[in-house]
Amino acid sequence: MIEEIRSILKQIGEDPTRDGLQSTPLRVDRALRFLTSGYGMDPDALLNKALFDVAYDEMVIVRDIEVFSLCEHHLLPFFGKCHVGYIPNGRVIGLSKIPRLVDMFARRLQVQERLTTQIADTINDKVHPRGVAVVIEAQHLCMIMRGVEKQNSVAVTSSLLGAFKDNQNTRNEFLNLVRIQK
Ligand SMILES: [Zn+2]
Repeated sequence: MIEEIRSILKQIGEDPTRDGLQSTPLRVDRALRFLTSGYGMDPDALLNKALFDVAYDEMVIVRDIEVFSLCEHHLLPFFGKCHVGYIPNGRVIGLSKIPRLVDMFARRLQVQERLTTQIADTINDKVHPRGVAVVIEAQHLCMIMRGVEKQNSVAVTSSLLGAFKDNQNTRNEFLNLVRIQK
């Protein structure tokens, strides 16, 4: 992408040959490839050997997972916190794999709504729990930097499946534990 990025620098009125910009196309190329490296990963490979049969049926929550993604409309970052909960049904997922699953989908061009449902649907498909809940709270630079929204506005999206959808007490317990206002 180096030639294309050099061309973008010219288009915005810059001189790509000046000192500070000479290595910029290479750096942007590397940064973009890293930030979209989730396309090259697949959930089965990620979760391979990380699913365990365990007789535990209480709610499992991983809270405050940092999430950084790029909005597919402007290629600008959105970032914030992701909270994941599920209720096992004889099977659990290695705890460290949940943030990696979030990263895998976040490192693609995204809209926050789809990112939220992809995480929930994948856990639902692979772990077959009694329920899954995913909430993402994020700020979008495409809105904040362009002045479309006030500086501190946060977009909140959720995907609630199974027991979290059907049972209000379960849903409230989760929302209380991740401190989301109902
Ligand atoms: Zn955007």
